[in-house]
Amino acid sequence: MASMNPGQIAYFEGEYVPIADAKLSILTHAFNYGTGIFEGIRGYYNKDEDNILIFRLQEHIDRLVRNCNVMCMDIDESPEQLTEICIELVKKSGFREDVYIRPIIYKSEHSLGPKLNGIETKFCCWTMALGDYVDVDKGLNVAVSSWRRLGDNAIPSRVKATGSYINSALARSESCQNGFDEAIMLREDGTVAEGSAMNLFMVLDGKLITPPPTSDILVGITRNTVMQIAADELGIEVIERPISRTELYVCDELFFTGTGAQVAPVRSVDNRLVGDGNPGAISKQLQDAYFDIVQGKNPKYRDWCAPVF
Ligand code: PMP
Repeated sequence: MASMNPGQIAYFEGEYVPIADAKLSILTHAFNYGTGIFEGIRGYYNKDEDNILIFRLQEHIDRLVRNCNVMCMDIDESPEQLTEICIELVKKSGFREDVYIRPIIYKSEHSLGPKLNGIETKFCCWTMALGDYVDVDKGLNVAVSSWRRLGDNAIPSRVKATGSYINSALARSESCQNGFDEAIMLREDGTVAEGSAMNLFMVLDGKLITPPPTSDILVGITRNTVMQIAADELGIEVIERPISRTELYVCDELFFTGTGAQVAPVRSVDNRLVGDGNPGAISKQLQDAYFDIVQGKNPKYRDWCAPVF
């Protein structure tokens, strides 16, 4: 698990302040009720250009802003300002390595009662240096969790809400305590949803298959990236459809995607090897193309990389 290595400066209550001064009261609504939404964004250090390239920043800000509507959130900053703050914060951080950016919109009011409307909301952001979040080379050993994925009519998975990560933490902890690297969560109907903080793809008979946005997933930006690479660069058919648990045992390849996870092959599920246990050919091709794109090496996708300097 990546340890925290925060930048010196945070954006907090409308200002750039030393990270030590970015503190909230224990009375804060978001602390008491989990009423925050956030993004996890990566910036990749490009040595040749001596620049940090923030990957698909626009799409992350867009998802955050759309989620505000679900959570009845209204903030002072415009989407353009949110974008600018993320870039500025990385600039001020002084990092010259891969970074992770964490914008958060939270119910800042000191008031009692779990409601959403009419509660004061604020934006803050911090950043840290981050290498790999999970192993991307060897393949992960994963287990199907006994914890079900949150349903859209309980706590919507499409909203990246702070409180909903209790669900992820329960599943991931169970897996890790049982000696696995990561969890796969099923929905209440028994079909596959996703990992604790990553989407899931399976390769079956040369086709790429992933659960649809209606399968209680966070609709991942890396998921979208990989779907585009598969279709446009590798000419692979991409299918969004529900996946059954035992398909995970008979498929040819399996991998996770996520800003943190990047493209991470799965070695085994519930102690059954996926294929021969080595990262599959399609997974490797997608991973190579992904790393080229995020590092700004593929001119066709350069618009996805926002330079900090
Ligand atoms: N699902 C969950 C539950 C997540 O937390 C994440 C990480 N944000 C993902 C999927 C992957 O989303 P993205 O590719 O946008 O990072």
